[in-house]
Amino acid sequence: MKIICIGQNYLEHIKELNSAIPDEPVFFMKPDTALLLDNKPFYLPDFSSDIHHEVEIVLKINRVGKNIAEEFAHKYYEELTVGIDFTARDIQKQQKTKGLPWEKAKSFDFSAPMGKFVPKKKFARMNNIGFHLDINGKTVQKGNTSDLLFSFDKVIAFISKFVTLKIGDLIYTGTPVGVGPVKIGDKLEAYLEDEKLLVFEVK
Ligand code: MG
Repeated sequence: MKIICIGQNYLEHIKELNSAIPDEPVFFMKPDTALLLDNKPFYLPDFSSDIHHEVEIVLKINRVGKNIAEEFAHKYYEELTVGIDFTARDIQKQQKTKGLPWEKAKSFDFSAPMGKFVPKKKFARMNNIGFHLDINGKTVQKGNTSDLLFSFDKVIAFISKFVTLKIGDLIYTGTPVGVGPVKIGDKLEAYLEDEKLLVFEVK
């Protein structure tokens, strides 16, 4: 199983990080050791002093695919949820400045908390799904898939040109505006529409 994450997929988030608008999807990967399941607590790592939350919709791939056509991409996932793409922003800034890969900032252990999956048939359209993240009861990030630069289907088609998708692979589809640091004691709650699918504490 692999975790593929899309960067820079919501315009307002690109602006908040002063990044350039990409002309094709940007992706990177996290190893399976990044997964954090069952609402287990996230322990702040000691190598960073600026761990940021990035709430994202996560797709679970349900069939093997290579060079998937965009028009058929919707057949490659049946379930979705919300997850957090934890990012050591201080390290990422250093890596960006040096032109180095982001893995050190993105792929560390338990950097990918993930919620409970729900069937996609619960939603009328994939391009109008709201999601948000609350910290200690206050909404800090709020997004809607209508604002995606690259739709779920475009992302699946694009990734599969380069990397074969396999059953159980996960795609984190990008974060909306409002990223920021977490601290010990924070309670994170992530929702797809009004349904809470992920809740955990930072320790
Ligand atoms: Mg992200």
